[in-house]
Amino acid sequence: GLVQGCNEVRIGVVGLGYVGLVTAAVLADRGHDVVGVDVDGRKVEALKVGRVPIFEPGLDDLLSENEERLHFSTDYSSLRDAELAFVAVSTPTVDGKIKLDYVLSAARSLSTVLGRDAVVAIKSTVVPGTARRVRSVADREVVSNPEFLKEGSAIHDTLRPDRVVIGSFSASAGDLVESLWSFTGAPVLRLTPEEAELVKYASNSFLALKVSFINEIADVCERLPGCDVNRVARAIGLDRRISPHFLNAGLGWGGSCFPKDTRAFLAFAAQLGEEPKTVRAAVEGNEERPRRAVRTLERLAGPLRGRKVCVLGLAFKPNTDDTRESVAMKVVELLLREGARVVAYDPKARIDLSTSSKEECVREAEAVVIATEWDEFRGIEGLLKGKYVLDGRRVLDPALMDPRFFRAVGLGVE
Ligand code: NAD
Repeated sequence: GLVQGCNEVRIGVVGLGYVGLVTAAVLADRGHDVVGVDVDGRKVEALKVGRVPIFEPGLDDLLSENEERLHFSTDYSSLRDAELAFVAVSTPTVDGKIKLDYVLSAARSLSTVLGRDAVVAIKSTVVPGTARRVRSVADREVVSNPEFLKEGSAIHDTLRPDRVVIGSFSASAGDLVESLWSFTGAPVLRLTPEEAELVKYASNSFLALKVSFINEIADVCERLPGCDVNRVARAIGLDRRISPHFLNAGLGWGGSCFPKDTRAFLAFAAQLGEEPKTVRAAVEGNEERPRRAVRTLERLAGPLRGRKVCVLGLAFKPNTDDTRESVAMKVVELLLREGARVVAYDPKARIDLSTSSKEECVREAEAVVIATEWDEFRGIEGLLKGKYVLDGRRVLDPALMDPRFFRAVGLGVE
């Protein structure tokens, strides 16, 4: 990445997970000097010797190409000279409520090391009002700059976001953050901090809602002969008011964001005395998906106790190794609870029951569940011959499958 050298900013990034590392790599590639800090010493040690602790397409290369502008440390004092520090630490939901401890602890640490004029930009997903709290804890200017990247295409999404959201108390702090992202050419929305924080929850809740909605249509399709939710979804999506994206029926949504963010949002709204009913319904509908899938498989193949079942896919979606709140993992758990002998295969994610190839996984299994739509699971209809198959992610061509042995989410049978 070559850079036309003006306006480089000394940047700090706190929290070197999917968001922090990608942000650090992209900004270093734009010519900025970046110091990344994480409390996880093993992560930092790995990064220092050029090992990337997560899998994200293109990230290894981008980090190594920019190693002279990237420094990693567990020590906050290495952020002393930063003009702008991004906070990208985890914000888990614990007992249904957002846990802000890591954000606030990062803010406290930053308050002791940053220069007076340094700006703190919050990339972590946080409930409205958090930027305000961070401002008082860090005692610095704070900007909310929520992140919308998708794991699996995180670098592309950071280079070409649909929009940049900036919520600031002071215009000049907002301007600094805006100037960093101006290279993207994306529309910039200058909002209040609370608005910016809310946008992130509203976006994720809406996307979750969209998937839960199409899954309900899929359930109805399954009861109608010859009805395929994919054809229905395509027709729905061509309505420009709806859009074709995020209308893929399947085993439900999971991952490190939608489940925790929808729960955190519901709890936050409840504190305000509000109950977003559509969001609650989206969550409740989604929670039933793994059980429904296992029931479908049992109706097809009979009781699973003692029988070998292969689960293809463990990551919560393709092109990532992330299994946090993955529906595939929930399916594995339920199958084990049914007494099935489970084997699993995923190109990137591993568990104790993992095999080293899909061929090995499928071999000797009586039943197969496709739980993540990795590209390498397309075109394997031949490999699955003679097995009971539940295609939970619609990667197989139903025309190539024997209907007596095959079910797919959202596909009605005659
Ligand atoms: P992650 O768990 O992969 O990484 C978070 C990192 O923060 C960890 O390495 C952890 O050790 C570190 N950390 C925790 N407390 C710290 C502290 N006090 N000081 C320094 N480091 C600390 O998380 P992630 O997936 O990168 O997500 C980070 C935030 O971004 C979350 O709020 C998440 O909701 C949000 N987000 C994530 C995604 C995504 O796709 N992963 C997308 C948009 C927004």
